[in-house]
Amino acid sequence: MNDSTTASIIDGKATALGLRAWIGDQVISLNSNHGIKPGLAVVLVGEDPASEVYVRNKRKTAVKLGMESYEHTLPADSDQETVMRLVQGLNADPKVHGILVQLPLPKHLDEKPVVLAINPLKDVDGLHPENAGRLMAGNVGMVPCTPLGCQLLLRRRMRDMTGKDAVVIGRSMLFGKPMAQLLLSENCTVTTAHSRTADLAAHCRRADILVAAVGRAEMVKADWVKPGAVVVDVGINRIPGEGKKAKLVGDVDFALVSKVASAITPVPGGVGPMTIACLMFNTLRAARLQNGLADVDMPTDF
Ligand code: NAP
Repeated sequence: MNDSTTASIIDGKATALGLRAWIGDQVISLNSNHGIKPGLAVVLVGEDPASEVYVRNKRKTAVKLGMESYEHTLPADSDQETVMRLVQGLNADPKVHGILVQLPLPKHLDEKPVVLAINPLKDVDGLHPENAGRLMAGNVGMVPCTPLGCQLLLRRRMRDMTGKDAVVIGRSMLFGKPMAQLLLSENCTVTTAHSRTADLAAHCRRADILVAAVGRAEMVKADWVKPGAVVVDVGINRIPGEGKKAKLVGDVDFALVSKVASAITPVPGGVGPMTIACLMFNTLRAARLQNGLADVDMPTDF
Protein backbone atom coordinates (compact mmCIF):
# COMPACT_ATOMS: atom_id res chain seq x y z
CA MET A 1 0.00 0.00 0.00
CA ASN A 2 1.13 3.54 -0.65
CA ASP A 3 -0.22 4.75 2.72
CA SER A 4 -2.76 3.51 5.25
CA THR A 5 -5.80 4.57 3.27
CA THR A 6 -4.87 4.22 -0.40
CA ALA A 7 -4.95 0.96 -2.30
CA SER A 8 -2.00 -0.22 -4.32
CA ILE A 9 -2.55 -0.10 -8.04
CA ILE A 10 -2.59 -3.38 -9.93
CA ASP A 11 -0.68 -2.40 -13.06
CA GLY A 12 -2.22 -4.30 -15.98
CA LYS A 13 -0.10 -2.48 -18.51
CA ALA A 14 3.18 -3.60 -16.96
CA THR A 15 1.88 -7.13 -16.39
CA ALA A 16 0.70 -7.37 -19.99
CA LEU A 17 4.12 -6.22 -21.21
CA GLY A 18 5.80 -8.90 -19.09
CA LEU A 19 3.45 -11.58 -20.37
CA ARG A 20 3.95 -10.45 -23.95
CA ALA A 21 7.74 -10.66 -23.58
CA TRP A 22 7.38 -14.20 -22.22
CA ILE A 23 5.12 -15.17 -25.15
CA GLY A 24 7.56 -13.61 -27.62
CA ASP A 25 10.35 -15.86 -26.25
CA GLN A 26 8.06 -18.90 -26.48
CA VAL A 27 7.26 -18.07 -30.11
CA ILE A 28 10.97 -17.83 -30.94
CA SER A 29 11.70 -21.25 -29.47
CA LEU A 30 8.60 -22.80 -31.07
CA ASN A 31 9.83 -21.52 -34.40
CA SER A 32 13.47 -22.51 -33.99
CA ASN A 33 12.82 -25.93 -32.39
CA HIS A 34 9.79 -27.00 -34.41
CA GLY A 35 9.52 -24.63 -37.39
CA ILE A 36 6.08 -23.49 -36.23
CA LYS A 37 4.86 -19.91 -36.42
CA PRO A 38 1.59 -19.37 -34.54
CA GLY A 39 -1.02 -17.87 -36.86
CA LEU A 40 -3.96 -15.75 -35.76
CA ALA A 41 -6.84 -14.96 -38.13
CA VAL A 42 -9.13 -12.09 -37.24
CA VAL A 43 -12.45 -11.70 -39.02
CA LEU A 44 -14.10 -8.29 -39.10
CA VAL A 45 -17.48 -7.78 -40.71
CA GLY A 46 -18.34 -4.17 -41.46
CA GLU A 47 -16.64 -0.93 -40.51
CA ASP A 48 -17.35 -0.31 -36.85
CA PRO A 49 -14.58 2.16 -35.85
CA ALA A 50 -14.10 0.69 -32.35
CA SER A 51 -13.83 -2.84 -33.77
CA GLU A 52 -11.35 -1.63 -36.39
CA VAL A 53 -9.12 -0.25 -33.62
CA TYR A 54 -9.29 -3.55 -31.69
CA VAL A 55 -8.47 -5.55 -34.81
CA ARG A 56 -5.54 -3.29 -35.69
CA ASN A 57 -4.13 -3.64 -32.16
CA LYS A 58 -4.48 -7.41 -32.26
CA ARG A 59 -2.65 -7.61 -35.58
CA LYS A 60 0.14 -5.27 -34.41
CA THR A 61 0.65 -7.26 -31.23
CA ALA A 62 0.66 -10.62 -33.03
CA VAL A 63 3.27 -9.41 -35.51
CA LYS A 64 5.41 -7.89 -32.73
CA LEU A 65 5.46 -11.25 -30.97
CA GLY A 66 6.61 -13.06 -34.11
CA MET A 67 3.25 -14.55 -34.99
CA GLU A 68 1.55 -14.60 -38.37
CA SER A 69 -1.51 -12.38 -38.59
CA TYR A 70 -4.28 -12.87 -41.13
CA GLU A 71 -6.93 -10.22 -41.37
CA HIS A 72 -10.22 -10.84 -43.18
CA THR A 73 -12.51 -7.87 -43.60
CA LEU A 74 -15.93 -8.51 -45.07
CA PRO A 75 -18.41 -5.84 -46.17
CA ALA A 76 -21.10 -4.89 -43.64
CA ASP A 77 -23.86 -6.38 -45.83
CA SER A 78 -22.23 -9.84 -46.06
CA ASP A 79 -24.71 -12.67 -45.63
CA GLN A 80 -24.55 -15.45 -43.03
CA GLU A 81 -23.38 -18.00 -45.59
CA THR A 82 -20.34 -15.87 -46.56
CA VAL A 83 -19.22 -15.48 -42.95
CA MET A 84 -19.74 -19.20 -42.26
CA ARG A 85 -17.76 -20.17 -45.37
CA LEU A 86 -14.88 -17.93 -44.33
CA VAL A 87 -14.78 -19.51 -40.86
CA GLN A 88 -14.88 -23.01 -42.37
CA GLY A 89 -11.99 -22.09 -44.68
CA LEU A 90 -9.95 -20.86 -41.72
CA ASN A 91 -10.74 -24.06 -39.80
CA ALA A 92 -9.22 -26.03 -42.68
CA ASP A 93 -6.11 -23.83 -43.03
CA PRO A 94 -3.14 -25.41 -41.15
CA LYS A 95 -1.30 -22.06 -41.00
CA VAL A 96 -4.17 -20.61 -38.93
CA HIS A 97 -4.06 -21.77 -35.29
CA GLY A 98 -6.41 -19.18 -33.81
CA ILE A 99 -9.62 -17.70 -35.19
CA LEU A 100 -11.24 -14.64 -33.72
CA VAL A 101 -14.46 -13.27 -35.12
CA GLN A 102 -14.74 -9.69 -33.91
CA LEU A 103 -18.08 -9.23 -32.13
CA PRO A 104 -20.61 -7.76 -32.31
CA LEU A 105 -21.49 -8.74 -35.86
CA PRO A 106 -23.84 -6.48 -37.85
CA LYS A 107 -27.43 -6.91 -36.64
CA HIS A 108 -28.69 -8.95 -39.61
CA LEU A 109 -26.21 -11.73 -38.82
CA ASP A 110 -26.71 -14.46 -36.20
CA GLU A 111 -23.59 -14.73 -34.01
CA LYS A 112 -24.39 -18.10 -32.46
CA PRO A 113 -23.90 -20.32 -35.53
CA VAL A 114 -20.73 -18.40 -36.39
CA VAL A 115 -19.22 -19.09 -32.95
CA LEU A 116 -20.39 -22.71 -33.18
CA ALA A 117 -18.71 -23.08 -36.57
CA ILE A 118 -15.24 -22.29 -35.18
CA ASN A 119 -13.13 -25.37 -34.51
CA PRO A 120 -12.93 -25.39 -30.66
CA LEU A 121 -9.16 -25.97 -30.89
CA LYS A 122 -8.86 -22.69 -32.83
CA ASP A 123 -11.38 -20.80 -30.68
CA VAL A 124 -8.89 -18.38 -29.08
CA ASP A 125 -11.75 -16.23 -27.76
CA GLY A 126 -12.96 -19.23 -25.73
CA LEU A 127 -16.59 -18.62 -26.67
CA HIS A 128 -17.44 -22.01 -28.19
CA PRO A 129 -19.74 -24.03 -25.88
CA GLU A 130 -17.22 -26.89 -25.92
CA ASN A 131 -14.61 -24.60 -24.36
CA ALA A 132 -17.15 -23.19 -21.88
CA GLY A 133 -18.01 -26.78 -20.91
CA ARG A 134 -14.36 -27.73 -20.55
CA LEU A 135 -13.77 -24.79 -18.22
CA MET A 136 -16.68 -25.92 -16.08
CA ALA A 137 -15.42 -29.51 -16.07
CA GLY A 138 -11.92 -28.37 -15.04
CA ASN A 139 -10.52 -29.79 -18.27
CA VAL A 140 -9.17 -26.58 -19.61
CA GLY A 141 -9.67 -25.74 -23.26
CA MET A 142 -9.47 -22.19 -24.55
CA VAL A 143 -10.39 -19.71 -21.80
CA PRO A 144 -11.90 -16.31 -22.70
CA CYS A 145 -9.13 -13.72 -22.73
CA THR A 146 -10.44 -11.03 -20.36
CA PRO A 147 -11.26 -13.32 -17.41
CA LEU A 148 -7.97 -15.15 -18.00
CA GLY A 149 -6.19 -11.79 -17.73
CA CYS A 150 -8.03 -10.99 -14.48
CA GLN A 151 -7.08 -14.38 -13.04
CA LEU A 152 -3.43 -13.65 -13.76
CA LEU A 153 -3.61 -10.19 -12.17
CA LEU A 154 -5.22 -11.72 -9.07
CA ARG A 155 -2.71 -14.58 -8.90
CA ARG A 156 0.21 -12.21 -9.06
CA ARG A 157 -1.31 -9.97 -6.42
CA MET A 158 -2.65 -12.60 -4.00
CA ARG A 159 -0.71 -15.80 -4.76
CA ASP A 160 -3.24 -17.99 -2.90
CA MET A 161 -6.96 -17.21 -3.15
CA THR A 162 -8.10 -20.29 -1.21
CA GLY A 163 -11.13 -19.65 0.97
CA LYS A 164 -11.63 -16.07 -0.16
CA ASP A 165 -15.13 -14.79 -0.77
CA ALA A 166 -15.30 -13.58 -4.38
CA VAL A 167 -18.16 -11.65 -5.94
CA VAL A 168 -18.39 -11.22 -9.71
CA ILE A 169 -20.92 -8.64 -10.89
CA GLY A 170 -22.04 -9.69 -14.37
CA ARG A 171 -22.99 -13.07 -15.86
CA SER A 172 -22.11 -12.80 -19.54
CA MET A 173 -20.60 -15.73 -21.45
CA LEU A 174 -17.76 -13.41 -22.46
CA PHE A 175 -16.77 -12.47 -18.94
CA GLY A 176 -18.91 -13.06 -15.83
CA LYS A 177 -19.53 -16.80 -16.17
CA PRO A 178 -15.97 -17.82 -17.08
CA MET A 179 -14.58 -15.48 -14.40
CA ALA A 180 -16.71 -17.21 -11.76
CA GLN A 181 -15.40 -20.60 -12.94
CA LEU A 182 -11.80 -19.42 -12.77
CA LEU A 183 -12.28 -18.09 -9.23
CA LEU A 184 -13.87 -21.39 -8.26
CA SER A 185 -10.81 -23.16 -9.66
CA GLU A 186 -8.73 -20.94 -7.32
CA ASN A 187 -10.79 -22.32 -4.39
CA CYS A 188 -12.73 -19.13 -3.79
CA THR A 189 -16.33 -19.16 -2.60
CA VAL A 190 -17.99 -17.45 -5.53
CA THR A 191 -21.14 -15.37 -5.86
CA THR A 192 -22.28 -14.28 -9.30
CA ALA A 193 -24.39 -11.12 -9.15
CA HIS A 194 -26.42 -9.59 -11.97
CA SER A 195 -29.15 -7.08 -12.72
CA ARG A 196 -31.76 -9.04 -10.72
CA THR A 197 -29.59 -9.55 -7.63
CA ALA A 198 -31.34 -8.34 -4.48
CA ASP A 199 -29.25 -5.95 -2.38
CA LEU A 200 -26.18 -6.01 -4.58
CA ALA A 201 -24.26 -3.70 -2.23
CA ALA A 202 -24.64 -6.16 0.67
CA HIS A 203 -23.24 -9.01 -1.46
CA CYS A 204 -20.33 -6.84 -2.55
CA ARG A 205 -19.51 -5.85 1.03
CA ARG A 206 -18.80 -9.50 1.85
CA ALA A 207 -16.25 -9.86 -0.94
CA ASP A 208 -12.52 -10.28 -0.35
CA ILE A 209 -12.25 -10.19 -4.14
CA LEU A 210 -14.71 -7.99 -6.01
CA VAL A 211 -14.83 -8.14 -9.80
CA ALA A 212 -17.13 -5.72 -11.63
CA ALA A 213 -18.08 -6.32 -15.29
CA VAL A 214 -21.32 -4.48 -15.86
CA GLY A 215 -20.85 -1.53 -18.21
CA ARG A 216 -22.25 1.14 -15.84
CA ALA A 217 -19.92 4.01 -15.09
CA GLU A 218 -18.66 4.11 -11.48
CA MET A 219 -21.55 2.00 -10.18
CA VAL A 220 -19.55 0.37 -7.38
CA LYS A 221 -19.28 2.85 -4.53
CA ALA A 222 -16.86 2.96 -1.61
CA ASP A 223 -19.48 1.75 0.89
CA TRP A 224 -20.02 -1.39 -1.24
CA VAL A 225 -16.44 -2.48 -0.65
CA LYS A 226 -15.07 -4.41 2.31
CA PRO A 227 -12.00 -2.67 3.77
CA GLY A 228 -8.90 -4.40 2.41
CA ALA A 229 -10.69 -6.09 -0.52
CA VAL A 230 -8.97 -6.57 -3.86
CA VAL A 231 -11.03 -4.91 -6.59
CA VAL A 232 -10.86 -5.74 -10.30
CA ASP A 233 -12.65 -3.29 -12.57
CA VAL A 234 -13.47 -4.72 -16.00
CA GLY A 235 -15.89 -2.03 -17.13
CA ILE A 236 -15.10 0.31 -20.00
CA ASN A 237 -17.42 3.32 -20.09
CA ARG A 238 -17.01 6.52 -22.05
CA ILE A 239 -18.33 9.59 -20.25
CA PRO A 240 -18.04 13.26 -21.22
CA GLY A 241 -14.64 14.60 -20.16
CA GLU A 242 -13.20 18.08 -20.24
CA GLY A 243 -13.91 19.91 -23.49
CA LYS A 244 -15.10 17.56 -26.21
CA LYS A 245 -12.92 14.63 -25.19
CA ALA A 246 -14.62 11.53 -23.80
CA LYS A 247 -13.15 10.14 -20.60
CA LEU A 248 -12.76 6.43 -19.98
CA VAL A 249 -13.98 5.16 -16.61
CA GLY A 250 -14.66 1.75 -15.15
CA ASP A 251 -17.60 0.29 -13.25
CA VAL A 252 -15.94 1.24 -9.96
CA ASP A 253 -15.74 4.70 -8.40
CA PHE A 254 -11.96 4.56 -8.45
CA ALA A 255 -11.19 7.73 -6.46
CA LEU A 256 -13.23 6.68 -3.42
CA VAL A 257 -12.97 2.87 -3.62
CA SER A 258 -9.18 3.11 -3.72
CA LYS A 259 -9.35 4.55 -0.20
CA VAL A 260 -11.06 1.39 1.09
CA ALA A 261 -9.62 -1.47 -1.00
CA SER A 262 -6.12 -2.88 -0.49
CA ALA A 263 -5.53 -3.16 -4.25
CA ILE A 264 -7.40 -2.06 -7.34
CA THR A 265 -7.08 -2.13 -11.13
CA PRO A 266 -7.29 1.30 -12.77
CA VAL A 267 -9.25 2.13 -15.94
CA PRO A 268 -7.51 2.52 -18.32
CA GLY A 269 -4.34 0.53 -17.68
CA GLY A 270 -5.79 -2.33 -15.63
CA VAL A 271 -7.69 -5.20 -17.19
CA GLY A 272 -7.77 -3.77 -20.74
CA PRO A 273 -4.14 -4.44 -21.73
CA MET A 274 -4.36 -8.00 -20.37
CA THR A 275 -7.02 -9.01 -22.88
CA ILE A 276 -4.83 -8.80 -25.99
CA ALA A 277 -1.86 -10.34 -24.18
CA CYS A 278 -4.06 -13.31 -23.21
CA LEU A 279 -5.31 -13.61 -26.79
CA MET A 280 -1.67 -14.06 -27.81
CA PHE A 281 -1.22 -16.62 -25.03
CA ASN A 282 -4.23 -18.57 -26.32
CA THR A 283 -2.85 -18.44 -29.88
CA LEU A 284 0.48 -19.79 -28.67
CA ARG A 285 -1.29 -22.63 -26.82
CA ALA A 286 -3.48 -23.35 -29.83
CA ALA A 287 -0.43 -23.62 -32.11
CA ARG A 288 1.28 -26.03 -29.70
CA LEU A 289 -1.78 -28.21 -29.18
CA GLN A 290 -2.60 -28.42 -32.89
CA ASN A 291 0.95 -29.62 -33.52
CA GLY A 292 0.86 -32.32 -30.84
CA LEU A 293 3.18 -30.42 -28.46
CA ALA A 294 2.77 -30.19 -24.68
CA ASP A 295 0.41 -27.56 -23.35
CA VAL A 296 1.84 -24.55 -21.51
CA ASP A 297 0.52 -23.09 -18.27
CA MET A 298 0.02 -19.39 -17.87
CA PRO A 299 3.19 -18.15 -16.17
CA THR A 300 2.73 -16.15 -12.95
CA ASP A 301 6.25 -14.77 -12.63
CA PHE A 302 8.03 -13.18 -15.56
P1 NAP B 1 -22.81 -7.62 -20.86
O1 NAP B 1 -22.88 -8.83 -21.70
O2 NAP B 1 -23.64 -6.44 -21.20
O3 NAP B 1 -23.14 -8.06 -19.37
C1 NAP B 1 -23.34 -7.13 -18.36
C2 NAP B 1 -23.72 -7.84 -17.10
O4 NAP B 1 -23.95 -6.85 -16.10
C3 NAP B 1 -25.01 -8.66 -17.22
O5 NAP B 1 -24.84 -9.93 -16.64
C4 NAP B 1 -26.05 -7.82 -16.46
O6 NAP B 1 -27.00 -8.59 -15.78
C5 NAP B 1 -25.17 -7.13 -15.45
N1 NAP B 1 -25.81 -5.88 -15.01
C6 NAP B 1 -26.35 -4.89 -15.77
N2 NAP B 1 -26.85 -3.91 -14.98
C7 NAP B 1 -26.63 -4.30 -13.71
C8 NAP B 1 -26.93 -3.73 -12.46
N3 NAP B 1 -27.56 -2.56 -12.35
N4 NAP B 1 -26.56 -4.40 -11.36
C9 NAP B 1 -25.94 -5.58 -11.44
N5 NAP B 1 -25.62 -6.17 -12.59
C10 NAP B 1 -25.97 -5.54 -13.72
O7 NAP B 1 -21.34 -7.07 -20.77
P2 NAP B 1 -19.90 -7.83 -20.78
O8 NAP B 1 -19.56 -8.18 -22.17
O9 NAP B 1 -19.86 -8.88 -19.73
O10 NAP B 1 -18.97 -6.60 -20.36
C11 NAP B 1 -19.16 -5.92 -19.14
C12 NAP B 1 -18.27 -4.69 -19.11
O11 NAP B 1 -16.92 -5.10 -19.24
C13 NAP B 1 -18.49 -3.69 -20.25
O12 NAP B 1 -18.25 -2.38 -19.76
C14 NAP B 1 -17.44 -4.05 -21.26
O13 NAP B 1 -17.07 -2.96 -22.06
C15 NAP B 1 -16.31 -4.46 -20.35
N6 NAP B 1 -15.36 -5.39 -20.96
C16 NAP B 1 -14.07 -5.04 -20.94
C17 NAP B 1 -13.12 -5.87 -21.50
C18 NAP B 1 -11.68 -5.49 -21.45
O14 NAP B 1 -10.89 -5.96 -22.23
N7 NAP B 1 -11.30 -4.66 -20.49
C19 NAP B 1 -13.51 -7.06 -22.12
C20 NAP B 1 -14.86 -7.43 -22.08
C21 NAP B 1 -15.79 -6.57 -21.50
P3 NAP B 1 -28.15 -9.45 -16.55
O15 NAP B 1 -27.45 -10.68 -17.02
O16 NAP B 1 -29.15 -9.71 -15.48
O17 NAP B 1 -28.64 -8.59 -17.66
